[in-house]
Amino acid sequence: MKSPNETPSTLPKLVTELASWSARYGADRMLTQGAGGNTSVKDGDWLWVKASGAWLEHAEEREIFVPAPVATILAGLSANEDRKAEWTTPGGRLLRSSIETSLHAVVPDRWVFHLHTVASMLWSAIDGGRTAVADRLQGLPWEWVRYDRPGLPLTRAIVERLGSKPQVLLLENHGLVVSGASCPEVDELLWDTEQRLALPARPVPAVHLEALRAAAPAGYHPALYADAHWCATDSDSFEAATMGMPAPDFAVFLGARLVGVRSGQSIAAAADLYRREFGLEPAVFLVEGHGALVRDSVGDNGEQMLEALGRMLVRLPENAKLTYLPIPEILGLLDWDAEKYRQSLIKE
Ligand SMILES: [Zn+2]
Repeated sequence: MKSPNETPSTLPKLVTELASWSARYGADRMLTQGAGGNTSVKDGDWLWVKASGAWLEHAEEREIFVPAPVATILAGLSANEDRKAEWTTPGGRLLRSSIETSLHAVVPDRWVFHLHTVASMLWSAIDGGRTAVADRLQGLPWEWVRYDRPGLPLTRAIVERLGSKPQVLLLENHGLVVSGASCPEVDELLWDTEQRLALPARPVPAVHLEALRAAAPAGYHPALYADAHWCATDSDSFEAATMGMPAPDFAVFLGARLVGVRSGQSIAAAADLYRREFGLEPAVFLVEGHGALVRDSVGDNGEQMLEALGRMLVRLPENAKLTYLPIPEILGLLDWDAEKYRQSLIKE
């Protein structure tokens, strides 16, 4: 067996299998968006985990997996150090392991898939979702994990729930972890969970693209993906979308809050309020009844997150309310060094 000091120089076959399943899930934006989500496989002393900033969708065409020594990562957890691995790939790319590396190390199963599925992000953010989900997931080896920030705090929250040997973890205000002894086993569990959590989308009014284009300030454009407009065209969704961010990646890629513009209100005035509150340029304006405008510099990570939010909100059951990350938590996420690193990679 290799000692953790001898970093592998080539990719084991297991990583090819990991790449194939990761690319499949990464291509489905109902399962994950942009650089969100991460996957891993354990091979002896090594955990092969997605690199920070990499997209699951690119798993088969690019080098995106990094070997991390499991024992060193776990020892870091005891020492309160969030250790990451760096690795130069056979193709010469220097990669750093995901911000969620320790999450993958503590889940004992060999294969671990962490995804931000639309259904799991929605249920995990619904007020009282834990009880509703318990009925739907009855019979599955699952646990609810209280919210904490991605990195060591989230990993610790997961460790608290591992006693029952769960293979499905619903991460509050975040998403889903599914794990198992083989990829087909994980795949079956994932789709079983997704089916049980699925909610129908309610009909939504049409998008007013012409009016949106006409209203767009310089440097903004109508959202790239059609479903993103659902955040604004439907009045219930507009209310829910402008109240806060229901999961970390919405903040990481779209800022502190989506800026709502009600009919009769000016976009410039709404932007000023946001700038004063957060010292940031708005990433998104939701123009009530019309659709979403996105800042040109936001990029595809943010566009895909906005689409996911639209898809979540039209599935929010009647009378259900979303819960949001507290503002101090959001500011923590936006200032967070590991996230800055991830964002800087994405801008490359
Ligand atoms: Zn995540």
